[in-house]
Amino acid sequence: MTDTSHAALHMADADVAILGAGAAGMFVALAAQARGLRVALFEPMADTPNNFAISGGLFPAAGSALQRGAGVEDSPEAWLADLRAFAPGMVNENIAEAVALALPAASEMLVRACGAPIRFLPEMVAPGHSRNRFHSVVPASGAALHAWFRQASSGKAGIEWVRHRAEVTRGPAGFELQTPAGRIRAPQLVLAGGGFGANAELVARFIPGMAGALHNGSPTQDGSVLQLGLDWGAQVWGMDGYQGQGHTNPGGVTRLGMSIPTLGGILVNQQGQRFIGEDIGPSGLAPHVLAQEGGQALEVFDAAIEAQLGNHGAYQQALKAGCVMTDPTLEGLAKQAGVDPVSLSKAVANAGACARGEQADPLGRREFARALAPPFKASWVTGALSHTQGGLLTQDDGAVVHHSGEVIAGLYAVGGSAAGLSGRGADGYLPGNGLAQAFGLGWRVAQALVKG
Ligand SMILES: Cc1cc2nc3c(=O)[nH]c(=O)nc-3n(C[C@H](O)[C@H](O)[C@H](O)COP(=O)(O)OP(=O)(O)OC[C@H]3O[C@@H](n4cnc5c(N)ncnc54)[C@H](O)[C@@H]3O)c2cc1C
Repeated sequence: MTDTSHAALHMADADVAILGAGAAGMFVALAAQARGLRVALFEPMADTPNNFAISGGLFPAAGSALQRGAGVEDSPEAWLADLRAFAPGMVNENIAEAVALALPAASEMLVRACGAPIRFLPEMVAPGHSRNRFHSVVPASGAALHAWFRQASSGKAGIEWVRHRAEVTRGPAGFELQTPAGRIRAPQLVLAGGGFGANAELVARFIPGMAGALHNGSPTQDGSVLQLGLDWGAQVWGMDGYQGQGHTNPGGVTRLGMSIPTLGGILVNQQGQRFIGEDIGPSGLAPHVLAQEGGQALEVFDAAIEAQLGNHGAYQQALKAGCVMTDPTLEGLAKQAGVDPVSLSKAVANAGACARGEQADPLGRREFARALAPPFKASWVTGALSHTQGGLLTQDDGAVVHHSGEVIAGLYAVGGSAAGLSGRGADGYLPGNGLAQAFGLGWRVAQALVKG
């Protein structure tokens, strides 16, 4: 990474300054640089894993060339229909269609123009998605994908990394960014500093139901970049929306990933009883898991499901960390976990009957995929707040909208600093929405930026 000496940069010699080198900021930097713009990329916490590095690294790109090449029929419209069905009345229609249409181009740019080792993952399933459409590196890993972006955007002509926090002022000619190393002026500024999940005061104000809950996102999410937009009179949207994680291992260091329920797994509480249709998605599950005794639930699955999780970096980490119990019998598993064996056996037997179509699920779950069979697996999980979804209201090109209804000249927002794809609590977050917005809206921002 080049830590620029600002002496090399003169007034207004960056076409665009970007605050934050996470998923959104680095994507915009690469896409803008590819158009020939001169980029100054500000990142004061480069040594702390950001949300991109912590994430599963999985993003939907419905209709991508990679997905088509694998013979999967899909389209931006199909993803959009899934999003609207999953989050009825909660979709950010300002950006949703633009993001859907941009994602194939965004992934194409990463793969073809930048040489990213991104693949379509045909086996990756998630609640709410009618087709298999996730992309990542193999095995899927936010840390590995982040590392590739970091390497690709460092030492590249046209992208100057600035490893300092900037004092930013806005004037008629654009933006001035002051750091201990010097000053940079740019006519355009992209706010890409993530959300506010690590800011307890803002979480308590906007998402009171998750005040004091485990935050398994990055400590870098302090809301400082979003605050700049607020200071300049920007509107916000969906501030109570968040990406929850109902598959987080207690302590928050590891998690099981989003796919186990879709593959047939169930959740039981300390009494060994199911309490929710597990197919509502990992985000919506979080408050339901937190509502159980001790704020925890036991995720129960089997070896056949585990065999399908080889490319899930998150699950493999949890396995390595010793978070998964295994036993040839349900009685043995119940004993290891400390839950009632009779209730657990009953819950698994009933789920099996639902899977075979012998009965309807009283909790309303529609798909069970398969009846669980020995050897059995289980892992304790809790609910966490992963990533806030509310943020600065933008147009479909990322331009930030002022209270007056006009856009703020030269100001763009993307990723966690901008309003996400869907809001209202945890329920609206369709798996993959975070990176979909970071890359899809990021693509639109990069195309809208003007070259000096
Ligand atoms: C546990 C977990 C799992 C997830 N899994 C997935 C997944 O599989 N798929 C998916 O689509 N999404 C996932 N997400 C969400 C995804 O990580 C985010 O949507 C994405 O990282 C948002 O990108 P961003 O650039 O806004 O934020 P980040 O990637 O966090 O980057 C923001 C950057 O801004 C920097 N910054 C902060 N303040 C300042 C400042 N004042 N000045 C300059 N820079 C600043 C930070 O240091 C950071 O590097 C997950 C999130 C978590 C927490």
